Amino acid sequence: MPQPLDRIEIVTADITTLRVDAIVNAANESLLGGGGVDGAIHRAAGPELIEHCKTLGGCQTGLAMITPAFNLSKQGVQHIIHAVGPVWHGDESQKLGYTIEDTLLASCYHQSLTLATEHRCKSIAFPSISTGVYGFPKPRAAKIAFGHVLGFLDKHDLPEKVILCCFCDADAQIIQQAIDTREDWMMNRKRMG
Ligand code: ADP
Repeated sequence: MPQPLDRIEIVTADITTLRVDAIVNAANESLLGGGGVDGAIHRAAGPELIEHCKTLGGCQTGLAMITPAFNLSKQGVQHIIHAVGPVWHGDESQKLGYTIEDTLLASCYHQSLTLATEHRCKSIAFPSISTGVYGFPKPRAAKIAFGHVLGFLDKHDLPEKVILCCFCDADAQIIQQAIDTREDWMMNRKRMG
């Protein structure tokens, strides 16, 4: 099994074009669709998705629910995992400590990966949950996303591969920076014994 870091890939793409076992949707609590990546996934999966979601009764922030991929199954996607990220109300100047939003965002990644493992998914793609209209600061979200995915992969053989899917190169760079910063920190820690 490759090292956890080698199982994470940053990709710039429309997430609905990827061929992975599971796609994560940045959903809202109603699970009844919305704008941004949610709208794109509903358009690509087709109207059966909303009919299915209506039967689920919503989902709390920080949790995730799994559905079939409907039309997206034609390109090999088996599941859509609907994770409800937090709306950012935090204070970015408060650099120390975790905000409730940090914990809820981390929970989205954890819950989604747990569902993917339970459904034997080999590959999964995440959008940058909460960093669109929900206003979560992107560098902060990138650190949380990367840190939690890495920690999960360290303990689980599935999914074998996690794609962090960004909508533009600038967002991909923010995630790459989070990875580089963490690697520098790990190297320094090793040097200092
Ligand atoms: P949220 O409400 O959780 O903030 P958004 O959909 O507004 O969700 O944005 C989440 C992230 O998804 C943003 O970084 C946005 O640029 C990105 N995004 C929007 N559409 C797509 C898409 N089709 N594929 C991948 N990422 C997307």
